[in-house]
Amino acid sequence: MTTIPILDERRRQIFQEQDNASFAMTCDRHSVAGSVSQRACVFCGSRVVLYPIADALHLIHGPIGCAAYTWDIRGALSSGPQLHRMSFSTDLQEMQVIFGGEKKLYGALCELIAAYRPNAAFVYSTCIVGIIGDDVAAVCRQVAKEQGIAVLPVHSEGFKGTKKDGYRAACDALFKLVGTGDTRDIAPVSINILGEFNIGGEAWLIRKYYEQMGVQVVSVMTGDSRVEELRRAHGAALNVVQCSGAMTFLAETMQAKYGIPYIRASYFGIEDMAKALYDVAAHFAAEPCIQQKAEVLVREQVAAVLPELQRIKADLAGKRAAIYVGGAFKAFSLIKALRLLGMQVVLAGSQTGNADDYATLREMCDPGTVIVDDANPLELSKYVIEKQADLFIGGVKERPIAYKLGIGFCDHNHERKIPLAGFEGMLQLAREIHTTVTSPVWGFVPFRAKDGEF
Ligand code: SF4
Repeated sequence: MTTIPILDERRRQIFQEQDNASFAMTCDRHSVAGSVSQRACVFCGSRVVLYPIADALHLIHGPIGCAAYTWDIRGALSSGPQLHRMSFSTDLQEMQVIFGGEKKLYGALCELIAAYRPNAAFVYSTCIVGIIGDDVAAVCRQVAKEQGIAVLPVHSEGFKGTKKDGYRAACDALFKLVGTGDTRDIAPVSINILGEFNIGGEAWLIRKYYEQMGVQVVSVMTGDSRVEELRRAHGAALNVVQCSGAMTFLAETMQAKYGIPYIRASYFGIEDMAKALYDVAAHFAAEPCIQQKAEVLVREQVAAVLPELQRIKADLAGKRAAIYVGGAFKAFSLIKALRLLGMQVVLAGSQTGNADDYATLREMCDPGTVIVDDANPLELSKYVIEKQADLFIGGVKERPIAYKLGIGFCDHNHERKIPLAGFEGMLQLAREIHTTVTSPVWGFVPFRAKDGEF
């Protein structure tokens, strides 16, 4: 199968050993106009981070099209309220674009707060709001005063940067809630889990592990979150940051204001999951029983999943995988997890990785692996074909690429409904990969030869 050449402007964001003597990735920049980036906009970045606050109202100030993408398509579960699954919009029209949308925003907020009685409200600014210049913060202040709840503007105009700027706008809004609650009953051995979005119930698994070790989880930001627990997050002794691209900014801000240290963690794959538990235990080393409990927990959990993982590995050994995810930190864990299954990673990329992330990826990957920043469908297709991948791990935007090319696909993004984190999650991931890679359907793809090659 022939492939289309990549754009000249994109060459410095793609690393292939054969045409790069030294490793120097260009990243952290705006997407190339017209390249149809896989990356989401600033607004989507904010919405991802704040979506799992289940008892808050999420109002998108803009045209209805912005809201459509985020209406209940995410797998972030709530053990109680389901308000987060709604996607309210001010549905701005031509008249508001000309004369301003503040009046409509005020009316929508009052109506929604009266109807749903949320514990807080987030108002997301979209592209057009940035262009027409509505004073969203002033409307939020007025409604907060009248209604007696926090009404927080999220300055997430889609055009003003990359998805990372959306994360930061969300962290700004979250930080306004933190520090306003009562912390008197919080234990000295306590953490906040940052950057864990409870996809398929993952935060429940992680929380259970930490609680079994004797660590109090004050808040998860954000997964099955409630406004009240976010308000008292400043009472925790440690912040554990998973999705570092999304939440490091909040962790740094909390460290500066409240003196709470933070560590990085990943809950994907056996190796990183165990490390996340041991690192927290090491932070509370003054309480040696926490380390002992962590060791027992890891031993039991690994023993429970390893036999089936070994059986799956026998079928997957030598298969080739392409990974394209939002944050590079997840790619690190996936590479380790795929190695555990005997698979080889031939393509690794992310939407929002920075220079350090890509240097780490370069060190972790086998020689010949293509590393790509802010890719588009043509580039991903090209390297999947050239590297003869058997599996694509990505999100909702990568799924059609995999299926059109006739290879297996595993959803590792926020749209999935099953947990892939934790020890149980590793087993789920292995089962998912096994099912899709060994499916007989790929034998019917006309442009793939009998031996599976394109
Ligand atoms: S905020 Fe802008 S870029 Fe994002 S979905 Fe809306 S119109 Fe598109």
